Amino acid sequence: MLAMEKDHNGSIYDSKYGCGSLLNRLCEEIADWAKDKGFDPTDWGNFPEKLMLISTELGEALQEFRKIKCIPGIDTPNPTDNFSKEDKERVSNIGFELADAAIRLFSMAAELDFDLERSIAEKMFVNEGRPYKHNRRC
Ligand SMILES: [Mg+2]
Repeated sequence: MLAMEKDHNGSIYDSKYGCGSLLNRLCEEIADWAKDKGFDPTDWGNFPEKLMLISTELGEALQEFRKIKCIPGIDTPNPTDNFSKEDKERVSNIGFELADAAIRLFSMAAELDFDLERSIAEKMFVNEGRPYKHNRRC
């Protein structure tokens, strides 16, 4: 888990892992790959379209979830039951769709020059100070 703190300059950092650039390097690599594959880079003109393409990947994940016949612990009383072979494939497909969403998101962050790693660190610092479930039901 992240351990967000403020340093003596007021900058937020992760005292456990530091604020390296691993995630930002991944974002850059994915953006380079997308460019090599001919995808238009994100700019402010196509930003809404690119956001919706991330949403479509999440929708595909939902479609895979809807195909699952039996979720151990939800559709069965025993949470240690195993998924069927077919449902294991659907769960695997959900992972691929989440990866598609992350790939699009990471590419977008690099193309628009967001320091996603720092943004996450700063947002987690803010979130840490919020109440349980942010005083919401879910
Ligand atoms: Mg997909």
